[in-house]
Formats: sequence, structure tokens, C-alpha cells
Amino acid sequence: MKSNKQKRAQLEAKRARKAQRARYAAIFRGDSNCAALKGWRWSKKGDFVPCDASQLAHTGFYGSPPQFVLMGYQDQLIRCIGCGTEETWTAMQQKWWYEVMKGSIYSRAVRCRACRRQRRTIRAAANECRLAGIERKRQAKRLAPSSQRRKLKRS
Ligand SMILES: [Zn+2]
Repeated sequence: MKSNKQKRAQLEAKRARKAQRARYAAIFRGDSNCAALKGWRWSKKGDFVPCDASQLAHTGFYGSPPQFVLMGYQDQLIRCIGCGTEETWTAMQQKWWYEVMKGSIYSRAVRCRACRRQRRTIRAAANECRLAGIERKRQAKRLAPSSQRRKLKRS
């Protein structure tokens, strides 16, 4: 039997996790006006957003840590290497990339959102094709008579 206190603590933890997920979803969409972010310590546009270094995926810095670790994130203007469009890589998107997606702290955005999405789709399709190929090969090996199996192995 759980005590009321334990139950309350569990409920609170659950609520906190849900709120965290909603915040991350809003950050991912780049929606700074989302209700999930209201009241949360969140800076205005152009301000620095503090970096939570404990959430970064790194095993040590080479020399000094990147500036955002010490100063926080700030909106950055990037020029897409794919299409040449200039786009803002917002502080929130940076926080998402480094702290939630665990991107390398030495990586940064080089493509606009549209190009990133397009690349992701193409790569997913290519991967599906690759996996289907592997599966076909496996099936062929299983079905082939022993003489053909030898040939398959050699090739
Ligand atoms: Zn682009």
C-alpha cells in the first residue's frame, strides 16, 4: 500500500514529465508562444537562453567549452549550404539540438529547416531500400539450392 504522500509525489513527477514533453514539443516546433512555455523561465527573442550543461552529450571538452555552454544560447543567423537561404537558428532550437537530441556540442546547423526535412526524408527512404535489399538477399540465400548458395557466398 502506498501512502498518500507517495501517491502525491508520483503524480507530481508524472505531471512534471508531461509538462517537460509539452515544452520540448513546442521547442521542436519553434513555437515560442505555446502555452506550454508560459511561465517557464524562458528568455525573450534575441536574449540568451541558459544552457543546462548536465544535459549535453559530451565526454569532455577539447580545450575550452563552446561559448554557448558558458553564455547560453542565442539566435544565430545561418546560411543554408543546400539552398543558400538565410535562416535564424533560434536559441530554443539550439537548446533542443544539444540537450534533447544530444547533438555533438561541436556541431551546428548548416542547413535550413526545409532542407533538413528534405534530407531526412531522402535518407529514410534510402535506408528502407537498403534494408529491403538485405532482406531480399537473406531470402535468396535461404531458398537457393546448395550449389547456388556457394556462388552467392563467393560473390
Ligand atoms: Zn536550405
